[in-house]
Amino acid sequence: MSEEKLAIAGGTPVRATPLPWEFPGAHWLGTEEQQNLMRVIAGKSPFRYYGPELQHMVDHFETESCRYWQRRFAVAVNSGTAALAIALAALGVGPGDEVLLPGYMWVSCVSAVVRLGAIPKLVDIDNTFCMDPHDLERKISPQSKVILFVHMNGACGHIEQVSLIAKKHKLFLLEDCAQAAGAASNGTLAGCFGDIATFSLQLNKNFTSGEGGLILCDDEHLYRRSFAIHDLGYARNDAGRLDVTNPNYQLWGMGSRMSELTGACALAQLQKLNSIISSMHHAKWSIRQSLQHIPQLQFRNIPDPSGDSSPFLITIYPNEETCLKFTEALMAEGIQGPEGSLSCALMRNWGLHWYFNIPNLIQKTSWCADGFPWSHPANQFAQHYDYAKGTLPHCDDLAARSALLSIASCLTAQDIHDITTAFKKVARALFG
Ligand SMILES: *Cc1c(COP(=O)(O)O)cnc(C)c1O
Repeated sequence: MSEEKLAIAGGTPVRATPLPWEFPGAHWLGTEEQQNLMRVIAGKSPFRYYGPELQHMVDHFETESCRYWQRRFAVAVNSGTAALAIALAALGVGPGDEVLLPGYMWVSCVSAVVRLGAIPKLVDIDNTFCMDPHDLERKISPQSKVILFVHMNGACGHIEQVSLIAKKHKLFLLEDCAQAAGAASNGTLAGCFGDIATFSLQLNKNFTSGEGGLILCDDEHLYRRSFAIHDLGYARNDAGRLDVTNPNYQLWGMGSRMSELTGACALAQLQKLNSIISSMHHAKWSIRQSLQHIPQLQFRNIPDPSGDSSPFLITIYPNEETCLKFTEALMAEGIQGPEGSLSCALMRNWGLHWYFNIPNLIQKTSWCADGFPWSHPANQFAQHYDYAKGTLPHCDDLAARSALLSIASCLTAQDIHDITTAFKKVARALFG
């Protein structure tokens, strides 16, 4: 049975060609994006607020986003990182405030808080790989102002419980949906549970314009603040010119407008989002189902599988050593993307998604000599806060013994077959 010998031990690999790149939306870029882009160029109007023959791509993208997510207001911006900072600023976050966020997220969640002068307070995750509602309740303090819930790896976690906790404690709920555009929990889309939600359209996300971001909310004042902050600090009039007269919207702008070129691409991608997701969902859940019978192989808990947007398959192993061995063997079987791809990886190597991999958080660095915001008198309450590894036991444990496989949005039946074949082959060799 030479074909049973693992490739890592000199056997024949399950497949010889790399799997496709991750990047869900990128595989679907095509003539629709091209046509929208050509219209912007032909009109010589790449700026959204005025120009010779404005095509209103960003306006349409915002309108269609409101329709897709059923929220009243949308502001398109130039990145998910900017969207987070603008949303927190619009909520009035500053020194003396604490933002509760999970230890498994993306560095942008932390940087948005720190740049505004507020304090990040880490909350542990559970086996959904999202914020643990029980630890959240333990971590709430008098300084807490916002709960930042991050829908990780395409799925929702216990967002309903978190939303109830936010209401009970009168805290704002901000949902970071950068990794979960189009995901849902029991029929409600990610981005519709809290006061305000942010998205990213960077290359790794479910829909993409290379760079881009989005803010959604229902409250008009919050929208107007977000709008002013995303631009130059003020409202705009019907002619698209700055209107500095309203004293409620004389704020400090972050220069994060979306261009019409980005809007052209974002609009076409939004119209494909459901197709992109259903392709990944089909592939991922057929793989997961065919591996269900292997007891040593556990999966991330996804409370509502039907709402999983499915860009990743997360596997959990009995211990750190098995996780490493399994993943190395799987990659040797050809279960990895082209060179430079991160499609098959150990969780602990997934960089700035883990609090303990962010050196400037652990060291509480500042970009000015004053040490702001850690040194700010209103932030005295956080002097003893520790961000080093060991702070969140479930994060540390799951990071050590889990791995992730990107599910490309263009997998063929053969690709899916190869992935399950390789998992089963490695499982037979390692678990017997
Ligand atoms: C990608 C990502 C962001 C940042 O988005 P950019 O558009 O790259 O700035 C924020 N939060 C999470 C959870 C992300 O995955």
